Amino acid sequence: MVLMMLTTPLSPRALPPPAATATPRHRLLAGLPPALLPLPDPRSRETSRGQPPAAPRRSATPPPRRAGPEEREGRRGAWPEGGALGHARGGARAWAGPGAAEGGSGSGRGSRPGRRKVRSSEVSWSPLHHLGTAHFLLPLCEQLAFNRHVVLCLCQPAAAMDIPVFILAGLLVHCVFLVSIFDIYFSSPLVHGMTPQQTPLPPPAKRLVLFVADGLRADSLYELDSNGTARAPYLRSILENNGSWGISHTRVPTESRPGHVALIAGFYEDVSAVAKGWKENPVEFDSVFNESKYTWSWGSPDILPMFAKGATGDHVYTFCYAAESEDFGAEDAAKLDMWVFDHVKSFFNSSRSNQTLFSALNEEKVVLFLHLLGIDTNGHAHRPNSREYQENIKQVDEGVKEIASLIDSFYGNDGKTAFILTSDHGMTDWGSHGAGHPSETLTPLIVWGAGVNYPQKVTTQFFEDNFLKEWKLENLKRLDVNQADIAPLMASLIGVPFPLNSVGTLPLEYLNTSALFKAESMFTNAVQVLEQFKVKMSQKKETTLSILFTPFKPLSASEQINYLKKIRLYIEQQKYDEAVSLCKTLINLALEGLSYYHTYDRLFLGLSIAVSFVGWTTYVILVIIKAHTNLTKTVPANKKKSTVLFYGFASAGMIITFFLLIQTCPWTYYIYCLLPVPVWYAVVKEIPVIQDLATNVLSLHIGQSAGFLLVCILGIEILVFSFFYRSALTVGLLVFAGWPVITQLWIQAKTKALIWTLLCVLLAIFPLMPVVGREPNIPLVIAAGLLTILISFFLLTSLCKSENKYRDNENLKVYFYQMFSVALSTYVVGSTHNSLKIKQGLPVMNQIISWMTLVFSPVLLLLSPTFLFERLFSILLSLMSTYLLLSTGYEALFPLALFGLMFVWINMEQEALQHYGLSLKPKLAVFNFTCTMDITQFRQLHLDDVRRSFFFVFFIVTAFFGTGNIASINSFDPASVYCFLTVFSPFMMGGLLLLKVAIPFVLVSCAFEAVQVTTQLSSKSLFLIVLVISDIMALHFFFLVKDYGSWLDIGTSISHYVLVMSLTIFMMVMNGLAQLLTTRRLGLPRRNKHHSM
Ligand SMILES: [Zn+2]
Ligand SMILES: [Zn+2]
Repeated sequence: MVLMMLTTPLSPRALPPPAATATPRHRLLAGLPPALLPLPDPRSRETSRGQPPAAPRRSATPPPRRAGPEEREGRRGAWPEGGALGHARGGARAWAGPGAAEGGSGSGRGSRPGRRKVRSSEVSWSPLHHLGTAHFLLPLCEQLAFNRHVVLCLCQPAAAMDIPVFILAGLLVHCVFLVSIFDIYFSSPLVHGMTPQQTPLPPPAKRLVLFVADGLRADSLYELDSNGTARAPYLRSILENNGSWGISHTRVPTESRPGHVALIAGFYEDVSAVAKGWKENPVEFDSVFNESKYTWSWGSPDILPMFAKGATGDHVYTFCYAAESEDFGAEDAAKLDMWVFDHVKSFFNSSRSNQTLFSALNEEKVVLFLHLLGIDTNGHAHRPNSREYQENIKQVDEGVKEIASLIDSFYGNDGKTAFILTSDHGMTDWGSHGAGHPSETLTPLIVWGAGVNYPQKVTTQFFEDNFLKEWKLENLKRLDVNQADIAPLMASLIGVPFPLNSVGTLPLEYLNTSALFKAESMFTNAVQVLEQFKVKMSQKKETTLSILFTPFKPLSASEQINYLKKIRLYIEQQKYDEAVSLCKTLINLALEGLSYYHTYDRLFLGLSIAVSFVGWTTYVILVIIKAHTNLTKTVPANKKKSTVLFYGFASAGMIITFFLLIQTCPWTYYIYCLLPVPVWYAVVKEIPVIQDLATNVLSLHIGQSAGFLLVCILGIEILVFSFFYRSALTVGLLVFAGWPVITQLWIQAKTKALIWTLLCVLLAIFPLMPVVGREPNIPLVIAAGLLTILISFFLLTSLCKSENKYRDNENLKVYFYQMFSVALSTYVVGSTHNSLKIKQGLPVMNQIISWMTLVFSPVLLLLSPTFLFERLFSILLSLMSTYLLLSTGYEALFPLALFGLMFVWINMEQEALQHYGLSLKPKLAVFNFTCTMDITQFRQLHLDDVRRSFFFVFFIVTAFFGTGNIASINSFDPASVYCFLTVFSPFMMGGLLLLKVAIPFVLVSCAFEAVQVTTQLSSKSLFLIVLVISDIMALHFFFLVKDYGSWLDIGTSISHYVLVMSLTIFMMVMNGLAQLLTTRRLGLPRRNKHHSM
């Protein structure tokens, strides 16, 4: 269905585009209600049977400004003003007719005379005027007899060849664009084939206990309670008396998996790994667990298995609870931590009667890993400032104390155990994580036991944040690390090789060992990082021509040897400090070199993708101009020229292929580098169109075209900006508010213009509000529900009063059901959140009602009449009842404001159409969605349609950023799905959140569907314009993709790009959905059938 929308673009001579028949809005006459069916004989004019006399036929009236072919020739070069509208009508019927197969052989050229005939026939081009009556179909039927052949001739070739090619090409090109950023910016940095590096000295500890308190914020652990006591007294005493402490800085995405990989494997997962899945191992990697002799781990089934899976041999053991235990709602999540502590205790108890286990536990290089998910779960459910979260920290503190003393006594206080407590990521005040806010990236690190430094008393510390004062820890040296530094720390404490892909630098200040050990460990660290650099360099060298290869100068082969020799010498001379600092220099250089080779091909790949982008966009613009406007006349293709062109481009392709071949490039490179060739070939082939266009444009007012271009660029820039600053939408909406004044529409329709301006201003407030989910405000949600019901009452009474003989009072029932459903949702939201507040969980009845509403509200909507306003109103009610259930704050008001604006928009577009003299005034109130024939698709584009498409894109973006942003969708805020479920289920929750995000889109799409059918805008040409807009935006975002700097920016930059790239496809899907919602109607069994609508 979606594919069909782009039917004509490649049709070379389609002027006007013929393939309306294939669009989804195509409705067979058979599907129309009997009262609206035309009479069988199209030529007989005595056809007033069954038609209300109120609407006189207009087919004899010459349309305003309709231009015949001659006139059009004469006006060529002027901007199209709808002059060519409505030729060749009747295509819909003809296409569906049985003659379809016969007419297929006709050629485009042969059809010309027939088309002229159609154009010059005196028919009304605006069926809108008659909608709601049967009259608009008559002219159509009149045309059928002699039009069928003609239309088929036009449609068939286009339908058979060009559509699939264009769509396939479009999909392919966009797939390449989309995938390319992962190859260009986010290929996996991991290399394989390094030699493991190990410090040749005996390690200080025999075993390591790693506690990871999932989702524990640094400040939550360190800060003192209001009465001045420590929240975690045991850990506080450790950092004051026994160990070292600091902050571990994590990177975005602050999620559990990347956090644990950084902690245990020592590298930061790249985005491609994250995209490939959280639970499985997308790439092979080495970890401290894998290097250990034995590792036992307890905790969540989401985390533990990935390290067991990655480990070679059978030495990493996991003990997990069932995934269902992670209930966010009723029960206390601290039980998850108690489960872990209890199992560790019984594990040690059981080892006393199990000789194999006992001796394994007494080996060296043993790791015990306790993953404590309770704090994270409580944080999501109750937010980090809650009593539950802080209580959980206390319980973890006690658990750690018990486990530490249990282990010490198990090993007879041999002083050979090292302990580390940290967390994988923090959490925002509103209970989410994933992004780069300091509350998410600052995690605690407390290390104590064998080989670890004691607290260092200091008088001054160099940290710019005020945390030390807040935490009353000014006098204890704070040692900050990057999260990946913890892996080498663990490895050197128990003396195992550093994980092969680790990029961490050993935090020496945590160690309480001999200076020799520190220097040797640092040296091991440097060699281990250098190994990765060497492997990476030799890989790049192999795949690059030797003349083109520019090595990373600071670390040439001789430089490497120099460094290593110097460090060795320093260690031998016992100049340990010099050795350590040289090691640090070497590590930094190697990391720099790693990223140098990693991004080696970036410029050249990026350029070739950008060239393709520009080519593709140019091509689509040419297609629009050629097929959907009368700006150019079709020029016959020069055959000789095109053969020359073809061979020219083919040889260019060959040269590129050869060049890539001798460099033994990866196969994806061929795609990126060869893509510009066919794309630009397609563009260059259209040179006559460009020349034609150029002469046309030059004959126009230069100022006018420049102004138009400027407005276009500004509009797109505002859209691009809105991705970074939601307030850009406010600016845009305020400009929209002035639209009636600028175009002087307000003279024509003062009230509508006023309402439009007011609603624009109202909607402009939303992007200024904070992102949804931070401050729950259930009373606002309830207010939104009540407001919806109030508006419904108002609208319904006005509906009842208004007279429309096609209305059926039976239909009013549907609205009452829908209003009841909204009322029910309002109640359920209030009662559920109350019940959760007093910790009684989600009432089953509420859950049932929520799911019932979710399932049945779309069905109710389909029962309502398909008259324009009635159906849109019904859509609003249905969507609102679902949206209310998913709301937690002010966002519940957003669909109402948005819908109001959309409602006025439909009216304003009608006024705009009139303003430009393009339409007889149709009665929107009696406009029926199902009665729209796609003959309207024959209208050609004019400039105002570009504006219309832009409004649509803008409103879609507003629907997206109006209440939140990408981060808030990615970050996990379970509060909004509490009416449906409280047990952790990522897919179900994700699905519901997506639904919540989609609802405003559906509203906009349905409104735009109404705009399309009432302004006779063709969805094909519309989507081509949207494609151009989104491609220009995508090119912006392609250059804005980042792989450096704050990790928040990186994640955001990718999602921007992906979002914009999928905009067109997304809008097509939305359009399809909107058509379904607006045109489908389920029959209700009813008693009296005299009204068949
Ligand atoms: Zn986590
Ligand atoms: Zn979490």
